[in-house]
Amino acid sequence: MNETPFAGCYRCRSCQNEELQLVVDLGFQPLANSFLDRKALMHMEPTYPLTLLYCPRCHLAQLPAVARAGEIFSDYLYMSSFSSTWLDHARSFVDEATRRFGLGPQSRVVEIASNDGYLLQYVVEKGIPALGIEPAANIAKLAEEKGVATRVAFFGKDTARALVGEGWAADLTVANNVLAHVPDLDDFVAGFATVLKPQGVATFEFPHLANLIGQTQFDTIYHEHFSYISLLAAQSFFGRHSLRVFDVDKLPTHGGSLRLYVCRAGAGYPTSPAVGALLEEEKAIGLDRLETFRSFSGACRRIKNDLLKFLIAAAENGKLVCGYGAPAKGNTLLNYCGAHSDLVAFTVDRNPYKQDRFLPGTHIAIRSPDAIGASKPDYLLILPWNLKDEICEQMRHIRAWGGQFLVAVPQLAVF
Ligand SMILES: [Zn+2]
Repeated sequence: MNETPFAGCYRCRSCQNEELQLVVDLGFQPLANSFLDRKALMHMEPTYPLTLLYCPRCHLAQLPAVARAGEIFSDYLYMSSFSSTWLDHARSFVDEATRRFGLGPQSRVVEIASNDGYLLQYVVEKGIPALGIEPAANIAKLAEEKGVATRVAFFGKDTARALVGEGWAADLTVANNVLAHVPDLDDFVAGFATVLKPQGVATFEFPHLANLIGQTQFDTIYHEHFSYISLLAAQSFFGRHSLRVFDVDKLPTHGGSLRLYVCRAGAGYPTSPAVGALLEEEKAIGLDRLETFRSFSGACRRIKNDLLKFLIAAAENGKLVCGYGAPAKGNTLLNYCGAHSDLVAFTVDRNPYKQDRFLPGTHIAIRSPDAIGASKPDYLLILPWNLKDEICEQMRHIRAWGGQFLVAVPQLAVF
């Protein structure tokens, strides 16, 4: 691999360093959530380089800016409420946070990237004033229908100023799985330094870089996901805005996430020993060293080769392989492998907005889960491996015809 073709071309999203290092090259890929309708199959499809860069100065792993944010979010189909695991997760977070921070009818809770109101519905239920900020108009509408007040906007310093002016200075802000999707990380973080009350708390959940590297979750690399974050990198970007990480939880969601609790540097929350312990852990696995990222690249190629060998052997032996789910990560995997409908006949998804569309790049058809019973595949390739247990339970009837489950990440497994 060419060592640093991007040196000097891009600045780090966090610290503005120009000496970024190329660590993984997944080739040219379409935007992972740009599902296609039948008509679009006949047209040219835009693709962009999908390459992971590492900043040796602030330790943020990141993609270069190759597509505009507007392009990526305009027809965003991910809807949180289609996963029951995720809804349970949201409900217990709301219970815990309202207790821990003493929230009540006098408080203000603001969620950034509030999606279809999957989390704020539980805040509203408790009689606590809540406001969602969601850039996708079609998704925001679904939240409003659930009774969750939602503003269609991107969050940053300007939106935060407007919120404070309208009485929405926040006791609690929630930002789940959005930090990584933000093109202008610095302006986004500045927004929290603006919108929080003096003793306000901001929580952030994001997939932990330690798992991407340690478990070779390279399929979580896609164009919407600009940053791959460790606590080391987070301390750097929060610190620049006089914000302090005072506690951290490790979560099983999305293959291993962190939840950071952040306040103003001078706010009255003592810093938990968990923060220092995790920083030490990150250094021990090498998240502050370029060599760690270089060896990750070889591990990605091994997963690609193993999956392709399996799919080709299955095809040659007349076995039918179908997919389950149409998550963004599935598209990175399938496009990196070049696996089209000759190797994975079709996939299924419970989300009706995805059904009867096609996966970007590979053009594999997305059907309703009923199609599995009708086709009786020999293997069901689970693309959202983070929901593996839930899916095995839902689809256990494939055992009736001897069907088996298949996952590719962190390594090929048939079960
Ligand atoms: Zn940097």
